[in-house]
Amino acid sequence: MKTLLSVSEALERLLKNFEPVTKDVVSLEHSSGRALAEEIYASDDLPSFDASGMDGFALRAEDVIRANVDSPISLKVVEDIPAGAVPQCHISTGQAARIMTGAPLPDGADAVIPVEYTDFQTRKVSLPAPSRVRIFRSVGKGDFVRPKGQDIRAGEKVLSIGIRLRPQDIGLLAMLGKAQIEVYRLPRVAFFSSGDELVPVGVPLTFGKIYNSNSYMLMASIQKYGGEVVNLGIVPDDPHGVRMRFERAVAEGVDLILSSAGVSVGAYDYVRQVIEQHGDLQVWGVNMRPGKPIAFGNYRGVPFIGLPGNPSSAFVGMEVFVRPVLYRLGGVMGWQPLKQVVFLEEPLTSDGRESYLRGMVYRRQDGRWAGRLTGLQVSGNLISLVQANALLIIPAGVQSVPAGTEVEAWFLEGT
Ligand code: AMP
Ligand code: MG
Repeated sequence: MKTLLSVSEALERLLKNFEPVTKDVVSLEHSSGRALAEEIYASDDLPSFDASGMDGFALRAEDVIRANVDSPISLKVVEDIPAGAVPQCHISTGQAARIMTGAPLPDGADAVIPVEYTDFQTRKVSLPAPSRVRIFRSVGKGDFVRPKGQDIRAGEKVLSIGIRLRPQDIGLLAMLGKAQIEVYRLPRVAFFSSGDELVPVGVPLTFGKIYNSNSYMLMASIQKYGGEVVNLGIVPDDPHGVRMRFERAVAEGVDLILSSAGVSVGAYDYVRQVIEQHGDLQVWGVNMRPGKPIAFGNYRGVPFIGLPGNPSSAFVGMEVFVRPVLYRLGGVMGWQPLKQVVFLEEPLTSDGRESYLRGMVYRRQDGRWAGRLTGLQVSGNLISLVQANALLIIPAGVQSVPAGTEVEAWFLEGT
């Protein structure tokens, strides 16, 4: 018997065949989820000027050292500074300026006293500033001021190549005034499902047919992992039809052709036949469950990955093999599945292959993480995957795992 590859060996072999796609420039508002293709250095200090952190009065801290509720200190209000304004006055001893959160600190002032500690507690900008204000508390130099450069210094590296831009990253890019962002273009992935039994949703089923669930599920995965889908629909079990579908994928100029089913050794597995005749096909036996064979090759030079037809196997194949490929193609770096060691609440059996079992993991009141299966692990069953929040990984070579054993769980959410 041929020796089977381990999951990590197979993944390593697969990834060797892929390089990131070319770069693209997008406007900041269209950059969500895109993989950053440039290092981002701060062009300016952040904050870019000393600003008030509170609605209050800008003053000189030394003027109010002795202020308290019983003997407040009265200062002359010489200016009113709303956010966005440019202060005009210099604050000298005995003076203050009303100031709003985010407004620049005027020259001469070195602290802000919040309105709460004054006799002018209203925050309404519509109310004119008073001519004098009484201060009930002392403040230290710099109190309630957001100093220039407190968060970031000009020239500092703030974001690295290869991250997928999150809302907070985009906010920071906006703080730095970046209007255009260099990102990787979205890898284009052609997807088709093969099988005479498949019917698209929206069409009534006749006996013996099933809905093409894999296309919908896996196209959603492709998009989730940063790919642009070219939907090639359902391919009937007929060699000419299969070949024409591959030709369309080539004409579309895709970066990857992905398919479900038709790569095993069944009499009607024409995907396998077509690739063998017109491209190059390697089928690796992988020591894993579900999804033992992974088909990899190319059709006229365009990389091809064939996933199994059984829905849960196809899903696991997507997570374990295709997701890292999509990230590699899309320029995403440093991704690792989010893992947690959990102890099993029930005994499990395996056939000795590295198993990815559908399970539910949760943190118990005592702080320990526990896990159990969500139901039948047969590969056509999707409900146990729908109810799962993690894949429980049973290492290769293990056949029975007693309750209480610690195993690794791979979260399906939050990654
Ligand atoms: P095959 O790889 O063609 O032998 O298919 C294996 C199993 O997966 C069969 O039960 C198929 O009916 C099922 N299957 C194949 N393709 C799909 C699909 N696109 N959606 C749902 N089930 C599928
Ligand atoms: Mg089939």
